[in-house]
Amino acid sequence: MPPSPTSTVSTAPVQLLDLAAQHAPIQPEIEAAIQQVLREAAFIQGPAVGEFARELGDYLGQTQVIPCGNGTDALQLALMSLRLPAGSEVIVPAFTYVATMEAVAVLGLRPVCAEVLPDTFGLDPAAVEAAITPRTGAIIVVHLFGQCADLAALTRIARQHRLALIEDNAQAIGATFQLAAGETPVFAGTVGEVGTTSFFPSKNLGALGDGGALFTRDEARATYLRQLANHGQTRKYYHEHIGLNSRLDTLQAAVLRVKLRQLPAWTAARQRVAAHYDAALTGLPGLYIPTRDPRSTHVFHQYTVTVAVEKRDQLQAFLRERGVPSVVYYPVPTHLQPAYQYLGYQPGQFPVAETLCGTVLSLPIHPTLTEAQMAYVSATVSDFCRVS
Ligand SMILES: *Cc1c(COP(=O)(O)O)cnc(C)c1O
Repeated sequence: MPPSPTSTVSTAPVQLLDLAAQHAPIQPEIEAAIQQVLREAAFIQGPAVGEFARELGDYLGQTQVIPCGNGTDALQLALMSLRLPAGSEVIVPAFTYVATMEAVAVLGLRPVCAEVLPDTFGLDPAAVEAAITPRTGAIIVVHLFGQCADLAALTRIARQHRLALIEDNAQAIGATFQLAAGETPVFAGTVGEVGTTSFFPSKNLGALGDGGALFTRDEARATYLRQLANHGQTRKYYHEHIGLNSRLDTLQAAVLRVKLRQLPAWTAARQRVAAHYDAALTGLPGLYIPTRDPRSTHVFHQYTVTVAVEKRDQLQAFLRERGVPSVVYYPVPTHLQPAYQYLGYQPGQFPVAETLCGTVLSLPIHPTLTEAQMAYVSATVSDFCRVS
């Protein structure tokens, strides 16, 4: 038995994610939805796909939703819909999941990395502005860990330079941002020309497999994206564009309809866990809790603390020995990933992103984490900070 912290007693083992527990109360509804798809047997583009798209569009404030195969395809389709000239540059954060950059590279466009902010981890608007060249075609902003990047500054820069803004909203579905004082907040993913999301099972709204979607308020672009995601066809066997085969399975859409109804409650539950951690971990020596941008809500896809570079791996090991799992999202900045060496970046070019890779640690956060488990996690983190 690992030694337990002095301040509390552990209960059930803490997990990073507990999808079985999250599904348990709605399992009969999920099973009924699956049974219905089995009976109707319209497995591709069945009725649940359109119904889910409409319901998600309503939830996100009357936006067009185009379902697709996964969040990486969504980014690729978003870029395809911009019809950028060959050789165009697309600005991406130096600190994000690799898919953001991969979608650019796979289309033969050039990813241009830009620095992020040390507090919110979002794209640094000044760095974006400095990275713009005559070849820049688009900016992809990532709302990392569940909080919006500075959408006010980034939309202003995009507009000034006539660049498209794509929002990679795989981690922040349901988050909102207030673009200007006195204005009604808008949903993340619905501000730029195109927004994208992922329904990978561990995301805040996850399927039972892969899935993704695009958001746009422009009807013409929505139609084009629907065609691009379905072999570029305008009607069956008539292909006006070179597209992809990237559709959301009817089965996944049917399950996502059930899960979408739970999303507001699940988000509130994540926020309660975050509030507990905030209260318990504020002011601990050498540890920083996630910074909140007052203009944004935070849906806490991750609760990510930062500690000194020489302490991070020790903290992770300390937690592991005491039964608390944690993850480093992400250990390598995008500009230093081996596959992207051809871009010619060197260590030291994006010091904030590089430092974050050595100092971040994401703690367990999910809607079914119990009070006792939260208390155990925060007590264990506190013990580390006091003894180390
Ligand atoms: C998960 C994720 C993606 C990719 O989504 P998939 O559905 O796994 O392809 C893209 N960007 C970010 C920021 C993500 O977290």
